[in-house]
Amino acid sequence: MTAETPLLRVEHVRKHFALTKGILFTKVLGHIKAVDDVSFEIGAGKTLGLVGESGCGKTTTSRMILNLETPTEGRILLDGQPIEGLQGDALRAYRAKVQAVFQDPWSSLNPRMKVGRTIAESLIVNAWGDKAQIAERVRELLRQVGLRAEQAEQYPHEFSGGQRQRVALAAALASRPQLIVLDEPVSALDVSIRAQMMNLLKDIQAQDNVAYLLVAHDLATVRHMADHTVVMYLGKIVEQAPTASLFEEVRHPYTKALFSAVLVAGPGQAAGEVELTGEVPSPLDPPSGCRFHTRCPYVMPQCAQVEPALREVSRGHAVACHLFE
Ligand code: SF4
Repeated sequence: MTAETPLLRVEHVRKHFALTKGILFTKVLGHIKAVDDVSFEIGAGKTLGLVGESGCGKTTTSRMILNLETPTEGRILLDGQPIEGLQGDALRAYRAKVQAVFQDPWSSLNPRMKVGRTIAESLIVNAWGDKAQIAERVRELLRQVGLRAEQAEQYPHEFSGGQRQRVALAAALASRPQLIVLDEPVSALDVSIRAQMMNLLKDIQAQDNVAYLLVAHDLATVRHMADHTVVMYLGKIVEQAPTASLFEEVRHPYTKALFSAVLVAGPGQAAGEVELTGEVPSPLDPPSGCRFHTRCPYVMPQCAQVEPALREVSRGHAVACHLFE
């Protein structure tokens, strides 16, 4: 990898799911455009925040990066190598390099397995070392995430929600990944312990130079964690920018609405009051032109006709909206 090559590159990726009917699901009624021409990059040791309402395509995007879904079009590259079609050892190696931590740690922890064994799983599968070496690595990982080495002998139900999320993080870190997909990593936690978890994630990033794809609807988490933020609406990127630039000046009406909804703008940082009304339209039949035009308070005649391109409006800050042409 050269200095210019990003760790992860997502290039014009689309994911369309066929909506079928009939006993053998052979009749195609249409296609759900879950992700529609999305491109971004993540540098080594950096965090990219991916935000939007549910149904915007952020989960499908992260599943494609985890190689759990295959893009309909476009490609995803890790260290400059396309990930499509990986099999056998190459796929196992990819899974070791790209890990995930989900919102609900129960989903990744086997309730009948001691957490030490869960953390050791990927080390055993990849024949990382002998029994004693693996046991030592598990103790080291537990300490790294702020737990005690002896807790390897405990079961998930013996941990609090925050501790279970730390165990899930230790399991993800075991194979020394280059990238971890963090899918709403703190939203299920008590507000009082969210900051601890975010700080732990940042400390680990500083130590291990691991990159994060942070999938979140919570803008406060993104602001605290992400170097760069991508905002998606109905499968499209509507705004992307260095996080500091985005929080300094929100441009796209949809991003403004997201900001207004959670009142993240502090004193002197008026995000603009944009009320978001109505449901997200169906991705099966997305609105013509700008997909946000059915909900946008600034809608103009051309918005329903012409799809706005994603254009750079200031250094690294791009917006897809006719207001900025
Ligand atoms: Fe609103 Fe038009 Fe901009 Fe879309 S292109 S966000 S409808 S002003």
